[in-house]
Amino acid sequence: MPMARQFSQAEHVQVPQQADGKPAVHPACASLPARQCHHALVNKAENDRLARCEASIKRRFDEIVPVLKEVAALGASRDFTEQANRLAEQHLGHPFPEAVLERSWIHGVDVPTLYSSSVFSALTAGVEQFSQRIHQELADGQSLDALLVDCGFHAVNVSACADGRLKGLFPYILRLPASDLLRRSAFAGTLFDVEDDILDWQAAELRRFREGYPSTSDSGTRYLKVAVYHGSSLDPTHQGCAAHQSNEKVAMEAALERLQQFRQGIENAFCCGASTDILLIGLDTDTDAIRIHVPDSRGDLSLFRFVDNAELYKKTLGMNADQARLTIYEAIENVSDVGGWGQGVGKPHDGMRRLMANLLINNLSQIEYVAENYGGWYPDKGHGERFISIGDGFQELQVRNLAYFARLDTVEEGAADLDVGVKIFRHLNVEQGLPIPMAIHYSYDANVPGHRERIIIKLQRVAAAIRARYSDLLSAGMLYLHGSIQNQKLGSPLEEVPLP
Ligand SMILES: [Zn+2]
Repeated sequence: MPMARQFSQAEHVQVPQQADGKPAVHPACASLPARQCHHALVNKAENDRLARCEASIKRRFDEIVPVLKEVAALGASRDFTEQANRLAEQHLGHPFPEAVLERSWIHGVDVPTLYSSSVFSALTAGVEQFSQRIHQELADGQSLDALLVDCGFHAVNVSACADGRLKGLFPYILRLPASDLLRRSAFAGTLFDVEDDILDWQAAELRRFREGYPSTSDSGTRYLKVAVYHGSSLDPTHQGCAAHQSNEKVAMEAALERLQQFRQGIENAFCCGASTDILLIGLDTDTDAIRIHVPDSRGDLSLFRFVDNAELYKKTLGMNADQARLTIYEAIENVSDVGGWGQGVGKPHDGMRRLMANLLINNLSQIEYVAENYGGWYPDKGHGERFISIGDGFQELQVRNLAYFARLDTVEEGAADLDVGVKIFRHLNVEQGLPIPMAIHYSYDANVPGHRERIIIKLQRVAAAIRARYSDLLSAGMLYLHGSIQNQKLGSPLEEVPLP
């Protein structure tokens, strides 16, 4: 898998072909990959930091296979264990499990077990490395909290597709740091759980009522529910959302329908008028450019009324920062006046306009990030996940294509998401002779007595159900599970849970 490249290397990037065979033209910077664009609103220092972060976390995973090839080639040499461990320590940063190496003289090197244990070690090391960063982000997050409240939102709940290409949604694509007011979840096809979100809304409202946090219950702030769907500009009919057969219109409609059900559900049950806002965002997984569907004054959305950030990048390139910012605000204003299919009633409220402008500006940096490190388009336009993440997911490891994420509490409920992930990994790993590493991870609330113990039981129950569901893979030695829990306070250490 290619590593994040520096610009000098990106000059040699081949222009990808569109589905019709013609060379692609980058939607934001037409001179790519020959010549870079530099936008006045891009945060260059943050882009450099994120590139180092992506490269270091992916390197941990991507060196596993080359190291294992060398280990396998050592064969039955006399100091096999020492040599294998020297390679592992040197390239992976940890030794292999002693017992596995010692068995090697009988049936040869047990590559699947070494592979899985290395993936899980990379995972643990990555979480450790980045929990430090989370502490920093939480401090920074206070400025995000302030911005959200200032824009009139007391909670923001974002659901995206579970596709690994959206794994970097917060730190990379939208540039939103970890924050107490920000909730996130991922479901195949962005088909989020409406009932769960209504419960989350109730908890947020109760907290305002009881604690006045982050705003008092009589202030006019709102709960914002965001859904993120995705498509592919290079190959829209093959590399879009698998859960919707790569049909972007179907993906949009499905996400919008859930948003409307959520909003309607709350209005029906609590007759609180328009106390929730909804927002729909589309992502091009080839360039990481977003489009935002702009609500009207009643909070209603249209599939046909949106601001395309690749176009905005192109339009505002060459302007100074103030002009560019103004043009972005104008674009949001102007789109509210469109007629025809996208026609709505008036403009969204001021806070919503400010939030959208912030997201668009943040995403300009990401468009340039992909341009600078990859020449404009990601080379791994399809799936390239390293492991399957099950349960609550790892807050620390948010990098594109690192994991396929299935958020689930029981295997029965999450079977559809899980099956999609296993199907992807049968192709990615099993066909190559490598097993599927699955990391089951749940968080608990250390404030609630007994929660930790109950979560461990739940995790073990989920593990047993997964083993039963994929018994063919298990008996073929092609499925490895890893269990871990974490206190829900962001940045808490990972605790490994033995799976019987
Ligand atoms: Zn998808």
